[in-house]
Amino acid sequence: MAILITGGCGFIGAHTSVEMLNAGYDIVLFDNFSNSQPEVLRRIYEVTNENLQFYQLDMRDKERLEKVFMENRIDAVIHLAGLKAVGESIHLPLKYYDNNINGTVTLIEMMKKHNVKKLVFSSSATVYGLKAQVPISESSPLEATNPYGRSKLMVEEILRDLYISDNEWSIIPLRYFNPVGAHQSGRLGEYPNGTPNNLAPYITQVAAGKLREMSIFGNNYPTPDGTGIRDYLHVTDLALGHVKAIEKVMSGVTGVNAYNLGTGKGYSVLEMIQAFEQIIGKHIPYSIVDRRPGDVAICYADPTKAKAELGWEAQKGLEEMCMDAWRWQVNNPNGYESSFELERSWV
Ligand code: NAD
Ligand code: UDP
Repeated sequence: MAILITGGCGFIGAHTSVEMLNAGYDIVLFDNFSNSQPEVLRRIYEVTNENLQFYQLDMRDKERLEKVFMENRIDAVIHLAGLKAVGESIHLPLKYYDNNINGTVTLIEMMKKHNVKKLVFSSSATVYGLKAQVPISESSPLEATNPYGRSKLMVEEILRDLYISDNEWSIIPLRYFNPVGAHQSGRLGEYPNGTPNNLAPYITQVAAGKLREMSIFGNNYPTPDGTGIRDYLHVTDLALGHVKAIEKVMSGVTGVNAYNLGTGKGYSVLEMIQAFEQIIGKHIPYSIVDRRPGDVAICYADPTKAKAELGWEAQKGLEEMCMDAWRWQVNNPNGYESSFELERSWV
């Protein structure tokens, strides 16, 4: 009996793996390391002292994927593998559709073949598009504004069609708001390739002197200080949301039921910078630049459904998010750089 976590070496995957192991589950991971490093596996062991089974593979490779289902008794899947850079998706839409959609179809075909019909899928608040009213509830209209978002929305729709075709499936799309922070040990965190696109890693890299200054994308939004407002949640809280979602799909319920994972509170870009400045004890230089195309003014969750039906609620506040993100940055200035080689038995 094991839970398969796809993309298990990524930012959310590593934290989810830790919380699943802490909750006593046996886990099997796979990753193709397109946006992560093998060193993550050693760090997961370091913070949990628990073993896991790992496969290096691309989810579009049917033969290697099948091996995972043949060699393990998989009960349910947490599907996190995917590409996530919005800007890149606009320039390379086919790469995103191939990886995120074809990859998912290959995965669910394999699940169906091996009679594994319990799935937790990493969706995103981006599926709510530009017109949703805050706080955003799960029943808000869905709309995608770029290929990345469309890949998430299409997968959600594929999953709804899958259930219509076979109502034994139990599927939970989790719509994440803005995960930030890092494991409190300082051993697991986020290290984006190249210049970060997201706010929090950009701030910590400026504070660490790796980047010169912040660019704030617009200060003329209809918000109290003019900068965009988002719902930032600690990645460990997000990871715990997956444990709750797995409990739910394992409980015997069927259907497709989406849940928001957010705190229900919004912070502006300036408030985020100030929160980091307080933790770091250092001024973070910034300049105001044009709005980023596609950004909404305000986005935060109505998280009541997850509380009522999954028993999940974010516990960690902004200070902890900033503290843990900064600890990770200071302890790992170059991310997971390491000469760690995969052991043969793990490949
Ligand atoms: P990440 O890039 O750190 O992790 C994704 C992992 O999947 C990486 O380790 C990557 O190597 C792996 N991967 C990608 N394509 C693969 C493939 N074809 N086969 C095998 N492995 C593959 O990203 P993350 O922040 O951990 O996000 C995890 C999931 O959550 C993604 O699907 C992402 O779209 C979604 N999500 C993330 C956020 C966020 O802000 N981080 C918000 C909403 C949704
Ligand atoms: N943002 C910013 N400068 C940056 C990165 C982000 O001003 O370098 C703003 C962005 O416009 C949004 C907020 O910070 O209002 C969060 O952006 P992020 O890319 O982290 O997440 P998103 O909500 O866009 O997925």
